[in-house]
Amino acid sequence: MELYKQQHIKIYNSLSGEKDNFKPINDGYVGMYVCGPTVYSNVHLGNVRTFMSFDVIFRYLKHLGYKVRYVRNITDAGHLENDADVGEDRIAKKARLEEIEPMEVVQRYTVDFHNILNTFNFLPPSIEPTATGHIIEQIELIKTIIDNGFGYEVNGSVYFDVHKYNKTNNYGILSKRKLEDLIHNTRELEGQSDKKNPQDFALWKKAEPTHIMRWPSPWSDGFPGWHLECTAMSTKYLGEHFDIHGGGMDLKFPHHECEIAQNQAAKGKTPVNYWMHANMLIMNGKKMAKSTGNFILPTEIFTGDNKNITKAFTPSVARFFMLQAHYRSILDFTNDGLLASEKGYNRLMEAIGQLQDLKTSETSTLDIQAWIQKCYDAMNDDFNTPILIANLFEGVKYINQIKEGSETISLKDLENFKNTINAFVYDILGLKNDKTNAANGTDKLSGAVQLLIKLRQEARINKDFALSDQIRDELAEAGIQLNDGKEGTTFSTN
Ligand SMILES: [Zn+2]
Repeated sequence: MELYKQQHIKIYNSLSGEKDNFKPINDGYVGMYVCGPTVYSNVHLGNVRTFMSFDVIFRYLKHLGYKVRYVRNITDAGHLENDADVGEDRIAKKARLEEIEPMEVVQRYTVDFHNILNTFNFLPPSIEPTATGHIIEQIELIKTIIDNGFGYEVNGSVYFDVHKYNKTNNYGILSKRKLEDLIHNTRELEGQSDKKNPQDFALWKKAEPTHIMRWPSPWSDGFPGWHLECTAMSTKYLGEHFDIHGGGMDLKFPHHECEIAQNQAAKGKTPVNYWMHANMLIMNGKKMAKSTGNFILPTEIFTGDNKNITKAFTPSVARFFMLQAHYRSILDFTNDGLLASEKGYNRLMEAIGQLQDLKTSETSTLDIQAWIQKCYDAMNDDFNTPILIANLFEGVKYINQIKEGSETISLKDLENFKNTINAFVYDILGLKNDKTNAANGTDKLSGAVQLLIKLRQEARINKDFALSDQIRDELAEAGIQLNDGKEGTTFSTN
């Protein structure tokens, strides 16, 4: 029987403002869409945190036996500097400043994004669609919205009529904002004069003559509005109605509010059952900002090359640190926090290493089944990773108690205990044992070099000095020095 039939998840739903029982639309299947990055700069640590939250959710749903289709897009066009449809396209601006093609910007930062996520041991999504790969779908969607009376064209651009929409729908249903308040608080921005109302948002923008990222459409040569791509791509791959939509807290308004409005306007239905939002990441108690130096790039955590940290940390330690905060809490990134996490992580890995040596008894004095259920309960309660980690440390305590002989464990319980720890630590939290990996790497290298030392000795006995010198020289080129001594040959690496 699939685990999801026994383990019942509750999800904090931004739409209802409550923890709702999770029930997928199709039994056993989950459709999940997460707004991906706009690829115009190195991925921000705050984004890594958001995507890590959904990586763990994806992993847990899979662990429970759900067939999950996880779609996370790449925004490679249409995201302007200002959310109110003004300013330059972020990618086009970077391309102009660096005098390269926009698609070179996209390629560079998409590669960077994937590299960083791989380093942090993320699972790839099931589909990773791009905005520029779905221009046709976006144009079709705009046509439908216009046909249904919720879009209007002015000077080659198309806008969504928020005021008209709000008469029959609720614009603000997700962000809990009221249109009347928005009207009072919206400033008129330059370049918005085409709109009937400042609250309207762009579905299609006519490109200025100098704008190179442009596509033909019935209205003008231009580009789609940012909010539109997620509606087009989520509908295409997950259907008009799907289970989970996630993203960073900052996307709730206007981005996600607009997605709901677009779906409702085009299809007459609410697109998503569970809206999930990951909270922000701050650093040393303050907002991260390059200008003040209160900033770190993800890669700098691994090199230690940043004044905000005192040493380098492995990707698993950084991952462990981030998962010690619940995804809906603000995460404060600090050197002290990382140091404490490193200690905790090492303690956890050390204990896991001792699992195989534990002696079993006829009976258990520990209630392992209850402990296992507590681990599931933590994740079932809106994916509460800090509580899960606290339970894992209770497991570490058990390991020490069994080792010391103050508690006992049966063979069957030990098997379940081991399987549960491995599942939660490696499959669900996505940690790796960095220490073992490093040690294994050295062991493998050592084995290979020892073999070459042996072959070289044989060559010397056979007076094949050409071969013995070749082995020595080629190893030296690879950074491995052979040292011939009285005790035999040893090696060192540089
Ligand atoms: Zn989106």
